[in-house]
Amino acid sequence: MTDEFKIDPWSSTNIMEEDYKRLIKEFGIEEMSDSLREIFKKNRFIRRKIIFGHRSLDTIYRAIEKGKNWAVMSGIKPSGPFHLGTMTTALEIVEFQKMGGKAYYCIADIESWEDNGIPYEEAEEIAVDNLADILALGLDPSPKKAYIWRQSQEPIVKDACFKVSRLVTNNMLHAIYGEKTFGLYLAALIQVGDILLPQILDGAQPTIVPVGIDQDPHIRLTRDLTRRYYKKFFLPGSTYHYLLTGLDGSEKMSKRNPNSYFTFNEDLKSIEKKIMGTLTGGRRNKKEQKELGGEPQNCMIYKILMYHFEESDEKLNEDFLACIHGELMCGPHKRECVEKVIEFIKKHREKKEKLIDKARELLNII
Ligand code: SF4
Repeated sequence: MTDEFKIDPWSSTNIMEEDYKRLIKEFGIEEMSDSLREIFKKNRFIRRKIIFGHRSLDTIYRAIEKGKNWAVMSGIKPSGPFHLGTMTTALEIVEFQKMGGKAYYCIADIESWEDNGIPYEEAEEIAVDNLADILALGLDPSPKKAYIWRQSQEPIVKDACFKVSRLVTNNMLHAIYGEKTFGLYLAALIQVGDILLPQILDGAQPTIVPVGIDQDPHIRLTRDLTRRYYKKFFLPGSTYHYLLTGLDGSEKMSKRNPNSYFTFNEDLKSIEKKIMGTLTGGRRNKKEQKELGGEPQNCMIYKILMYHFEESDEKLNEDFLACIHGELMCGPHKRECVEKVIEFIKKHREKKEKLIDKARELLNII
């Protein structure tokens, strides 16, 4: 990472292990302490150390302890089908909702227009499909437990954008995001409204926003503007997960590169092919693998299972040890991974099919 490096929420910049350390230090992200990890151990992403850092997660803990309201906020940009990369934040919001937070889920269609040139009308069908996916992943949409909105239809977020904009200069946005179109700057300010919506709508309360570290610029901007404009609100908190690199060895799973991920709507044969072709942490041949052991920490197969498709922590630990001791070979492990993923996708599609109408109703798209 060079001195000029900026984390860019709209690009596929790779972030290396040493960059994470530097970003944590430079931007004041708190590392996940053992005590917080223990408190939130029901959350698989925290327990499995996929979430490595946070801001103000302790405010959520205190709210839980005192039986007070708290919120978890996230969203999706409707620019294509749900994929392996978007699944992480989707499951994180579900995990926090299960712990008692009210889930606020945003369909970022303004951002989809500004970033990808997708008109609102075109984004509607994608939004229905995306929402049905997260419902199938377990999001409870009942009004007491969730609030779901489209940016283009939600006056609260547009209003917040105008209000905070009075405090924002071009220099500020340039310093945070680098040179971008005015539309992307506006989308960032709309996101400030998204992140603050739980408190604007339902009163001051701790809010947690699970993100990949590439989204931290939005969190920093929102916290700064909350301090200066919404002074009675809690500073929105966040958790940060490690980003998955692409299946094809590219820097990041990105909708801009279809070989770097698979979608939930993709042909099963194509999913299988992508998984079988992915980079592992294995050695050059079987003999070396037996002698030296593999490197599961650098293996996409291991990571896919750890993030999404292996329910059992024990099994993950066993596989990790078997791999580093040269007792597990990549071929059979890849096939096992394919079977788990395909089984998951088949069940997911069955659930999702029954939830399309519900998604339409929730988004008021007939
Ligand atoms: S044995 Fe499994 S975990 Fe180990 S490097 Fe090969 S695919 Fe990865």
